[in-house]
Amino acid sequence: MKRSIGFLTFLIFACTAKPLYSQERSRAPADNIGGQPVQPKSSKTTILPIEHHFWDKENDLLFAGVAAARTLDYFSTLNMRRRGRQEIFLTNDAVDNHAGFAAIEAGATGVSIGASYIFHRYGHHKLERWTSIVHVGLATTGAVRNYSLKTAHTAVAVTRP
Ligand SMILES: [Zn+2]
Repeated sequence: MKRSIGFLTFLIFACTAKPLYSQERSRAPADNIGGQPVQPKSSKTTILPIEHHFWDKENDLLFAGVAAARTLDYFSTLNMRRRGRQEIFLTNDAVDNHAGFAAIEAGATGVSIGASYIFHRYGHHKLERWTSIVHVGLATTGAVRNYSLKTAHTAVAVTRP
């Protein structure tokens, strides 16, 4: 889950780009101060990126990928716990409560989709897609790492009579 914290930090930094974008847009009406009707700029300079619906095919696939990656993270974490390893991003108690941990994973998926929506809403369509791509990459890497961890063998003291 520390990955998720890093991911959220990335999103917060990315969101700070928004005020700059707003300033850029507010300049346009100032061109009309002279009272002369302003010709719409030629199509050469004002080609706007084509808007897309938020729930388009690409986002459907990306969000399904995020959900799949979180599911993989869920099962790999439980597998790691069964093999005696310690959870490092959350507490062991949070992970060992399976329903609660599943809710955390679902929440992480929801936060990711929400962040994508915010980027979409403010016209940052590349960041919107990259949010899911980065999330899938990090969660999958974490899951592979969980499965790769060696099983912890704890020594048990046996006293013989
Ligand atoms: Zn978009």
